[in-house]
Amino acid sequence: MTFALDPVIAAGIEVCRQPPVVPKRLSMAVSNNTVMSDHEHDHHHEHVDESVDDRQTWARRRREGVPTNKQLLVIACMDERIPVEDALGIELGDAQVFRNAGGKVTDDVIRSAALTTNFFDTEEIIIINHTDCGMMSAPDDAVREGLQAQAGDLDAADLDPSLPELNIGDADIMDWVKMTDDIDEACAAQVEYLRESSLIPDDVTVSGYVYEVESGELRRPGDRVAEEISERQV
Ligand SMILES: [Zn+2]
Repeated sequence: MTFALDPVIAAGIEVCRQPPVVPKRLSMAVSNNTVMSDHEHDHHHEHVDESVDDRQTWARRRREGVPTNKQLLVIACMDERIPVEDALGIELGDAQVFRNAGGKVTDDVIRSAALTTNFFDTEEIIIINHTDCGMMSAPDDAVREGLQAQAGDLDAADLDPSLPELNIGDADIMDWVKMTDDIDEACAAQVEYLRESSLIPDDVTVSGYVYEVESGELRRPGDRVAEEISERQV
């Protein structure tokens, strides 16, 4: 399935793209077609060596300091209806993708973004939120009651296995869950938050888009493509 990008969005994404990385095997095959006409000859083991080298580079790219192909981190909702790679026109290896409920900039998103931008040469962050998000589907009270029915005393519920001392305490559980009222506002606010974060280098580009499940298209926060968009009923 393919999605027609809004031309403006597509242009914006195109700007972010770097020249496609052609696998060595492919580039060799292409060059060989011309070389062969000159009656030159490659030993086949050279092709195999290239292939082995490609695989080793792929397997060890982090240790070798190779960034993602597009030096890109994508933060998106975990909703299965969002084809993140197709929507952005990227492929395996192009980006790191962090998905959680709502595509929220949570503490672990900031942690992950801080690490990849400071140590893995990631230069761009794209946030993808979407219409009809499950994070807009229920009133706060219903979510609170549902979690209480499961966990009992929420004040004592563990939130992070690496930080067992971290718990809700006196805070409202809904501050942690972070339901969404307005997806466009939320998306724009998250972009702004990451741009301002002291943990993210100033030269990192941060953009945000809303994926309309109704139209199958990305748009900027505040724009609209589909005629009917679902909104939160609280
Ligand atoms: Zn969602």
